[in-house]
Amino acid sequence: MLRTAILAASRSARVQRLVTAAPVSRGVVNRFVGGADTDAAVAATRELVHAGLTVTLDHLGEDTTDRRQAVAVVSAYRQLLGRLADAGLTARLGPLTATAEVSVKLSAIGQALGTDGDKLALEHAREICQAARAAGATVTLDMEDHTTTDSTLGILRELRADFPDTGAVLQAYLRRTEGDCRDLATAGSRVRLCKGAYREPASVAYTKRLDVDLSYVRCLNVLMAGEGYPMLATHDPRLIEIGAERAKFYATEAFEFQMLYGVRPDEQRRLAENGNTVRVYVPYGAQWYGYLMRRLAERPANVEFFARALTSR
Ligand code: FAD
Repeated sequence: MLRTAILAASRSARVQRLVTAAPVSRGVVNRFVGGADTDAAVAATRELVHAGLTVTLDHLGEDTTDRRQAVAVVSAYRQLLGRLADAGLTARLGPLTATAEVSVKLSAIGQALGTDGDKLALEHAREICQAARAAGATVTLDMEDHTTTDSTLGILRELRADFPDTGAVLQAYLRRTEGDCRDLATAGSRVRLCKGAYREPASVAYTKRLDVDLSYVRCLNVLMAGEGYPMLATHDPRLIEIGAERAKFYATEAFEFQMLYGVRPDEQRRLAENGNTVRVYVPYGAQWYGYLMRRLAERPANVEFFARALTSR
């Protein structure tokens, strides 16, 4: 019920105005969002890199409803990538990975815009990949709700022909994902495995937590046994432990852990200090409100933190 209320609030313009106007929101925003603009995003990246972490940045712009907005998101990414390179934050860690890279939601660059959406998103994604290559960085395509999975994987295939280091995201809650993992567990293929963040019907997704976790482990096994580069995106202590154990079993260092900015920061540092590559997903941009509300809806305990911040100075 709480989740439903928060998701409803995330769509209410009135609640958004109230929350955005509250000066105390700043502390909450600073915890989960890397900043409202490129300067702040670069500063947040620098801080994380100095702490021994790697970064993927997501420009917050999911509600793209026309081409003009899609073009603006592409130029935001181009600007960001140029700035990251100028700041020396895109050093390569290996053939497939860079210190800082970007995560892109295809819906933000036109995927949902009419019948030509796929074509437009592919063209825009190519521009971002080109800018990433020039900067020495890489691109990962975020995964959105299940109605976009085929389109996103199709666009990924096309991009990989020219930009083979482009990363994919697969969601363990989808019933199809174990098969997608098998398809993508190939040499040179970067795959982020997450549980999945959207409300999905039982016809396509596991709805019980245990089933999602079991699917995550099966998918993790397929990716770790394969020849690609698995990116284990989870805050779940049990899954992190299983990932670390599998890496030992396969005697591989060719994988990384990923977590969201502001979520379990101590664990992020602990894993990095133990020699793991840990990438922090840093959302930034003026449209932080919808993002923040979804994070709160994911984990009701965060509401307490949010409420405390709203009532204290
Ligand atoms: P959960 O089941 O949410 O949590 C498991 C356990 O982790 C909890 O019991 C607790 O012990 C710990 N934990 C979780 N959250 C917190 C917290 N806030 N504070 C303290 N402890 C906590 N989803 C998509 O659908 N598409 C994407 O492209 C995508 N990209 C992502 C990229 C990254 C780097 C990450 C980390 C997540 C991404 N997600 C994406 C979101 C993901 O699908 C999950 O919704 C989200 O990560 C929560 O799942 P979890 O694995 O952390 O496990």
